[in-house]
Amino acid sequence: MLRGEHRALARQAGCPWLSLATVLPIRYRCISCGNLTRFDVTTTSTRRAFHHYSVGGELVVEEDHVIAETVDEVLCRWCAAGGTVEEVEHQTS
Ligand SMILES: [Zn+2]
Repeated sequence: MLRGEHRALARQAGCPWLSLATVLPIRYRCISCGNLTRFDVTTTSTRRAFHHYSVGGELVVEEDHVIAETVDEVLCRWCAAGGTVEEVEHQTS
Protein backbone atom coordinates (compact mmCIF):
# COMPACT_ATOMS: atom_id res chain seq x y z
CA MET A 1 0.00 0.00 0.00
CA LEU A 2 1.31 3.43 -0.85
CA ARG A 3 -0.08 6.87 -0.31
CA GLY A 4 1.41 10.02 -1.70
CA GLU A 5 0.58 13.49 -2.82
CA HIS A 6 1.66 14.71 -6.20
CA ARG A 7 -0.39 17.86 -6.35
CA ALA A 8 0.64 20.61 -8.74
CA LEU A 9 3.74 18.90 -10.10
CA ALA A 10 2.28 19.18 -13.58
CA ARG A 11 1.96 22.90 -13.02
CA GLN A 12 5.62 23.10 -12.03
CA ALA A 13 6.47 21.36 -15.28
CA GLY A 14 4.85 24.26 -17.11
CA CYS A 15 1.86 22.29 -18.36
CA PRO A 16 -1.00 22.96 -15.93
CA TRP A 17 -3.52 21.25 -18.16
CA LEU A 18 -1.68 17.93 -18.30
CA SER A 19 -2.00 15.26 -15.66
CA LEU A 20 1.10 14.22 -13.81
CA ALA A 21 0.80 10.82 -15.41
CA THR A 22 1.16 12.49 -18.81
CA VAL A 23 4.13 14.63 -17.81
CA LEU A 24 6.07 12.11 -15.75
CA PRO A 25 4.52 8.67 -15.38
CA ILE A 26 5.04 7.18 -11.95
CA ARG A 27 6.29 3.62 -11.83
CA TYR A 28 5.63 1.29 -8.95
CA ARG A 29 7.16 -1.92 -7.61
CA CYS A 30 5.65 -4.37 -5.17
CA ILE A 31 8.32 -5.21 -2.63
CA SER A 32 6.39 -8.30 -1.57
CA CYS A 33 6.15 -10.10 -4.93
CA GLY A 34 8.28 -8.07 -7.36
CA ASN A 35 5.33 -7.04 -9.55
CA LEU A 36 6.21 -4.04 -11.76
CA THR A 37 3.26 -3.99 -14.12
CA ARG A 38 -0.15 -4.49 -12.44
CA PHE A 39 -1.54 -2.10 -9.81
CA ASP A 40 -4.89 -0.74 -8.69
CA VAL A 41 -4.30 3.00 -8.34
CA THR A 42 -6.87 5.20 -6.60
CA THR A 43 -6.55 8.92 -7.37
CA THR A 44 -8.42 12.11 -6.57
CA SER A 45 -8.27 14.83 -9.19
CA THR A 46 -9.48 18.38 -9.63
CA ARG A 47 -10.54 19.01 -13.22
CA ARG A 48 -11.81 21.89 -15.28
CA ALA A 49 -13.79 21.26 -18.44
CA PHE A 50 -15.90 23.15 -20.92
CA HIS A 51 -19.46 21.81 -20.70
CA HIS A 52 -21.10 22.51 -24.02
CA TYR A 53 -24.87 21.98 -24.07
CA SER A 54 -27.03 21.89 -27.12
CA VAL A 55 -30.31 23.81 -27.08
CA GLY A 56 -31.98 20.42 -26.55
CA GLY A 57 -29.93 19.80 -23.41
CA GLU A 58 -27.39 17.28 -24.73
CA LEU A 59 -24.02 17.70 -23.07
CA VAL A 60 -20.62 17.44 -24.73
CA VAL A 61 -17.62 17.79 -22.38
CA GLU A 62 -14.64 19.43 -24.08
CA GLU A 63 -11.22 20.72 -22.99
CA ASP A 64 -11.01 18.43 -19.95
CA HIS A 65 -7.99 19.59 -17.96
CA VAL A 66 -6.50 18.02 -14.82
CA ILE A 67 -5.55 20.85 -12.46
CA ALA A 68 -4.36 18.71 -9.54
CA GLU A 69 -4.13 14.99 -8.91
CA THR A 70 -3.45 13.10 -5.71
CA VAL A 71 -2.61 9.40 -5.48
CA ASP A 72 -4.70 8.07 -2.61
CA GLU A 73 -3.73 4.41 -2.71
CA VAL A 74 -1.73 1.95 -4.78
CA LEU A 75 -2.40 -1.75 -4.36
CA CYS A 76 -0.50 -4.59 -5.96
CA ARG A 77 -2.88 -6.47 -8.23
CA TRP A 78 -1.47 -9.81 -7.12
CA CYS A 79 -1.02 -9.24 -3.37
CA ALA A 80 -3.93 -6.76 -2.94
CA ALA A 81 -3.82 -5.19 0.53
CA GLY A 82 -1.12 -7.62 1.64
CA GLY A 83 1.60 -6.23 -0.63
CA THR A 84 3.94 -3.35 0.04
CA VAL A 85 4.27 -1.03 -2.95
CA GLU A 86 6.99 1.57 -3.49
CA GLU A 87 7.63 4.15 -6.18
CA VAL A 88 10.44 3.34 -8.58
CA GLU A 89 13.00 6.12 -9.07
CA HIS A 90 13.05 7.60 -12.53
CA GLN A 91 16.18 6.99 -14.50
CA THR A 92 17.51 10.04 -16.30
CA SER A 93 19.42 9.37 -19.48
ZN1 LIG B 1 2.64 -7.87 -4.89
